[in-house]
Amino acid sequence: MTDTTAERIEAFIEQLRVPPGTEVDLEKDFDPGFRAGIAKKTNGIELLSVGIELLAEYQRRLAAEQTRGVLVCLQALDAGGKDGTIRHVMSGMSPQGVRVANFKVPSTEELDHDYLWRYARQLPRRGEIAIFNRSHYEEVLVVRVHPENLGRQRLPGAKRDGDVWARRYREINAWERYLAENGFRVVKLMLNLSKEEQRVRFLKRIDVPERNWKFSAADVRERAHWDAYQRAFSQMLSATSTPWAPWYVVPADRKWLARLCAAAVLAHTLIDIGPQYPRTSKADRQELAKAKKDLEKEAPEGAPADPYEASAAGKNRERRGKASRKASGKDGRKRQG
Ligand code: ATP
Ligand code: MG
Repeated sequence: MTDTTAERIEAFIEQLRVPPGTEVDLEKDFDPGFRAGIAKKTNGIELLSVGIELLAEYQRRLAAEQTRGVLVCLQALDAGGKDGTIRHVMSGMSPQGVRVANFKVPSTEELDHDYLWRYARQLPRRGEIAIFNRSHYEEVLVVRVHPENLGRQRLPGAKRDGDVWARRYREINAWERYLAENGFRVVKLMLNLSKEEQRVRFLKRIDVPERNWKFSAADVRERAHWDAYQRAFSQMLSATSTPWAPWYVVPADRKWLARLCAAAVLAHTLIDIGPQYPRTSKADRQELAKAKKDLEKEAPEGAPADPYEASAAGKNRERRGKASRKASGKDGRKRQG
């Protein structure tokens, strides 16, 4: 990892960040078709594969360190591409260190508790990345657009009065700050889809038989509330993009670009955390040396004592040989032409 890679990732994702403390209007300020400076899809896909490798390496270190954790919150309107984004971003990671939690309509047990309860139960452990597919932000989105959801939460009278949304923004910010101060980073991604692209994706789910199972008439009914959702998203982004947990608005009309942006934001966070493999102590190294000796003694007749070491040494010799042949211009390869 070079400093320039980190700087390039920072410059790339800065275009997507909602500056903390600013008022934004989703429709006016963020274009779902924005290319973020990536001219060609092939370039984007190449960068994505580099990003996925980088994420895999950092995730291994985060897991080995077992000190910090990461919570990724993914919000989008229906057909925004949450599932595909999660699949891609996770593709290089070890399943042991990553967990996805999906949040649907709350159950009666969940409704019996305060609204953050069900999200708190799914938080990452130290060393883990938890991805929230929908998150506590539903509590100021769908619950706001359909106030009957708030009724089901059975808040006592006085708590339903006044500005319940301003209060929730404050509570959510405080909760995320608490997590940050305890070693858990909160990464917030909003996949920003255009109304026209949503229409096209719904139609594709109807037209392609293999995709019929993804189609839901309820999603089409929800589309009628498009403007109310845009307003709820704008207010939420303005009120809850904080220095400790800023929002990133990801242009989602191109799936490959949305995946690249999500990978870049997560990579930026992991680079910033800078997890390290634990260093071994003198006592650990002594124990390793003893175990090595014991295992070497068990080598069968004719086998190298440590086959791994023997093969690594062989590979090194080969590399050095190639390098010196190249330096003296005798690499033996026939040049074409
Ligand atoms: P997909 O459709 O891709 O499988 P999804 O996240 O849309 O994924 P669904 O089961 O279709 O999953 O929908 C979940 C529904 O639950 C959404 O309509 C969402 O608005 C709703 N929901 C999530 N959280 C809450 C909440 N706190 N209160 C009420 N409804 C909620
Ligand atoms: Mg759905």
